[in-house]
Amino acid sequence: MIKLGIAGLCGRMGYELFACAGGSGEFEIVCGIDRDGKKPHIGCTAEIKEHPGELSVVPDLFIDFSRPECSVQVLGYAKEKGIPVVLGTTGFTDAQKKLIEDTAASVPVVFAANFSVGVNVLLLAVEKTAAVMADSDIEIVEAHHRYKVDAPSGTALAMGEAAARGRGVSLKDVKVSGRDGITGERVHGTIGFSAVRGGDIVGEHKAMFCSDGERVEIGHVAQSRATFAHGALRAARWLSGRQPGLYTMKDVLSI
Ligand code: NAD
Repeated sequence: MIKLGIAGLCGRMGYELFACAGGSGEFEIVCGIDRDGKKPHIGCTAEIKEHPGELSVVPDLFIDFSRPECSVQVLGYAKEKGIPVVLGTTGFTDAQKKLIEDTAASVPVVFAANFSVGVNVLLLAVEKTAAVMADSDIEIVEAHHRYKVDAPSGTALAMGEAAARGRGVSLKDVKVSGRDGITGERVHGTIGFSAVRGGDIVGEHKAMFCSDGERVEIGHVAQSRATFAHGALRAARWLSGRQPGLYTMKDVLSI
């Protein structure tokens, strides 16, 4: 039985993890980090604190789907206690990403913008298509629920990174986000991002490769958050007993 700590336990992904891990017999949620700890999910009896330093139990592993400022605390705690982390939170700054790398030098960390198996297959297809359709204009369109706070989504950025890798360029140099007003003509070689926000959309992503006379579209639709929770639990299972290092879902899935 793997004893889990969940950062963001009282949130949407926290609920999915609670629901998916609960009946598995493989995992026990022993503690959580959440500033809304007074509102646990019905049936959840785990100890919940706002900060990891306040916990009285030490889990075998932390799964984090919260906000970057909370994840930073969880990473510090994991390093101090020597426990692995499955990190699903998005919206990190470059400095925070550096901290993730530094933590992974001491403890094993799986960091993925998207834990669904389908999206990780999609990333491979995007990289390959970007390389083969070398002259096409690449546009990435994503849609999420009204509560999402960061844009473009972590998955859209991962798709951009995959496309840039396929072209042998750095995403930072070619990224164009959220066009508005008199933008001028499209600059050749750029990768464009557009974000839609509304209702309860779980997560939709599409990469468009537009050439003269034809267009390839590769997309993914997440129909339930449970798909991310199952992926995160798969990563947790895989991570137990690993050497320190920064891993991705590609490592977990051996693709
Ligand atoms: P949510 O808002 O429903 O849940 C976040 C929880 O974290 C809340 O309960 C909130 O109270 C808690 N929290 C936030 N800041 C905190 C802080 N500073 N200290 C303590 N607790 C804090 O959000 P969600 O939809 O569950 O998503 C959480 C994160 O996971 C987001 O970054 C989202 O983009 C990401 N996400 C990633 C994947 C993936 O596959 N990698 C999938 C879905 C969501």
